[in-house]
Amino acid sequence: MDIRSWALEMGFDEAEAIPAAMLPRAQELLPGARTLWILVTAHRPFDPGDWPEDGLVVASHYPASQQAYHRTRRLAARIAEAGCSALAHPMLPAKKAALLAGIGWMGRQDLLHHPRYGTYVCLHLLLTDQEEKGMTTRKVLPSLCGACQACVDACPTGAVQREGGIDPARCLRAYMLEGVPFPEDMLPFLGRRLVGCESCQLACPHNAFVGFAPVPPELREAVRLLGASEETIRTRCKDLAGLLGKNLIRPQRLQEACALCERSLRMNSHR
Ligand code: SF4
Ligand code: SF4
Repeated sequence: MDIRSWALEMGFDEAEAIPAAMLPRAQELLPGARTLWILVTAHRPFDPGDWPEDGLVVASHYPASQQAYHRTRRLAARIAEAGCSALAHPMLPAKKAALLAGIGWMGRQDLLHHPRYGTYVCLHLLLTDQEEKGMTTRKVLPSLCGACQACVDACPTGAVQREGGIDPARCLRAYMLEGVPFPEDMLPFLGRRLVGCESCQLACPHNAFVGFAPVPPELREAVRLLGASEETIRTRCKDLAGLLGKNLIRPQRLQEACALCERSLRMNSHR
């Protein structure tokens, strides 16, 4: 069973294995667990100039992560067909595992920085009871932030802490399509963001080499939600759910998110 080759064939950009024992709850989640696979999918931020005028904005992490999630499930099924157990559990700590495997270093904005892909990586984990011979044996990489504070200064809501880490209560992402009340004092900073915020990544000098990707035409069409009728939002909701996942895109929450963005844009136009 060559799981690394299977993962790369399926479209992952990197697959690393560490002993499952490095995760405290591995045996609880999968009795007999031996190997934890860390599956890396690289992507690039969407070109900010590529959204339609009546469009909301989606961070490229979300469609990339949705595709990677389905790939991870296909890989788990292939491992199961070959006679081993494989579990992709949402409670598995992906960033911590990637750090332990030496895949990247942690930035002040609490994101993993991959040496080749910057912070634009989706991480998925698979716990297996397969005995992997080619375990990854790299060291944990130290942070390369140094004295830089660019992400702290770029965060519109003051969520990135100068000493490192994020205050989740101040991060815009915590309130997007989550069904929780959006803090009124943060609303002016929402703008056209439907889901995701990349300000702290776009400001990072270690991401400067990554460049931009065009917005896929189907996503470009699906986000044309500014000023849209309830019926149009319902139609586009189905398309968006296909691109970003049904768990994230639900009709009621999408309606609310559109209304919030419109309020935010109105607030900004009166400034
Ligand atoms: S995602 Fe946006 S709001 Fe959250 S920490 Fe980064 S810049 Fe701040
Ligand atoms: S912007 Fe600067 S401080 Fe923030 S993660 Fe990047 S290098 Fe570190």
